[in-house]
Amino acid sequence: MKIVLGAIADDFTGATDLANNLVREGMRTLQVIGVPATPLQLDDVDAVVVALKSRSCTASQAVSQSLDALNWLKAQGARQIFFKYCSTFDSTPRGNIGPVADALLESLGASQTVMVPAFPVNGRTVYQGHLFVGDRLLNDSGMEQHPLNPMTDADLVRVLSQQSKWPVGLLNHSVLKGGATAARAHLDQANDKGLRHVICDSLDEDDLQAIAGAVVDFPLVTGGSGLGQALPAEYRGRGWFSHTADAGQLEPASGGALVLSGSCSRATLVQIADFLKHYEGFALDPLALAASDAHYHEALNFARDRVGRGVPLIVYASAAADRVQQAQERLGVTASGDLVEAALANLAKTLVNEGVGRLILAGGETSGAVVSALGIKALRIGSQIDPGVPWTQAQIDGRDKPLSLALKSGNFGAENFFTRAFEVLQ
Ligand code: ADP
Repeated sequence: MKIVLGAIADDFTGATDLANNLVREGMRTLQVIGVPATPLQLDDVDAVVVALKSRSCTASQAVSQSLDALNWLKAQGARQIFFKYCSTFDSTPRGNIGPVADALLESLGASQTVMVPAFPVNGRTVYQGHLFVGDRLLNDSGMEQHPLNPMTDADLVRVLSQQSKWPVGLLNHSVLKGGATAARAHLDQANDKGLRHVICDSLDEDDLQAIAGAVVDFPLVTGGSGLGQALPAEYRGRGWFSHTADAGQLEPASGGALVLSGSCSRATLVQIADFLKHYEGFALDPLALAASDAHYHEALNFARDRVGRGVPLIVYASAAADRVQQAQERLGVTASGDLVEAALANLAKTLVNEGVGRLILAGGETSGAVVSALGIKALRIGSQIDPGVPWTQAQIDGRDKPLSLALKSGNFGAENFFTRAFEVLQ
């Protein structure tokens, strides 16, 4: 059987976020970590999301990984390719959204694609090409202080124009009010003018549905998981798949409960403070990690002790912007990030080995590092905790029961996300 949707996601949490929305729309979805090296059984799968770690590497690495994923998905017969990036358009003037979209378009021989980052249910909307997070413009949302890809401009046509070799158009809200037909006519006109990328406004689900209706037969679409929520209805309308009611059913969870956080996003900092009202935590300091191994072992012993007693706990490097900047100035941006990611990955490996069975990871890059260290190749997507974040399950070598895993992208989740996530699992 051929899969309907083949997605290429530029980070792990983003991949899960998309997969979550596909499952909620009744698509049986498998998330694979990187391009599978061995053939997979995809008979009962409607959509596959390939999770890459291509958001913050060089543009040429991101292009080459994405083209590998594209070729694999084409070999599985995917009817439509979806390039998934963050709803806050995480990128830098060098990429990687523009160069990857350029390369995918070229490889597919397609003339045009859309850019639809909006995820209205999570407060990410686009109006006149400007991205908002809640009621703030992107560059005033906290994202301007992101450790790896600070977003200092909310005008996405301008942002993408710096990254892509082709001119960028806009499908604005007034056109979308005319529905899918009007949107398609506008896209066709843009195509005639050589506008190969079109940033799409979207304020709500109706706008996303109009866009989905306009682009369902495009070889390539790009955007956030909001578009992923809208597309399945269009696929169903064409008889490409039929809705599965229990597409997100998982085995019961078991084992110790641990949160590991490397996300310094505003939402995560609030969620950590809330969790610490109920449970204990250990704050990892990159400067202390750099100084000696003692700090890591202190964290490990702290966690071991509590996991053994069955109490949920958190180990976090997450810190406010001034502390992050201090570490980055002393150690370098990449080195401080790598140090934190390596420490969290080693903690995860050791503690899962010792009985942690319910693990929450906060941060896109952080999740990528930990999931790779755990050797996880594929995730079954389960029920949603908060918009964009489902529980998932993975098989781990040496464990008879699957590991329950939640990958939370920085800005996602309500204030009580961590405590509630464990409750939802009961
Ligand atoms: P988010 O999803 O919030 O963007 P990420 O995990 O993708 O979170 O990115 C956060 C980055 O910041 C990671 O590379 C992480 O290792 C790094 N980091 C976390 N804590 C600190 C800190 N205290 N100092 C410097 N860098 C940090």
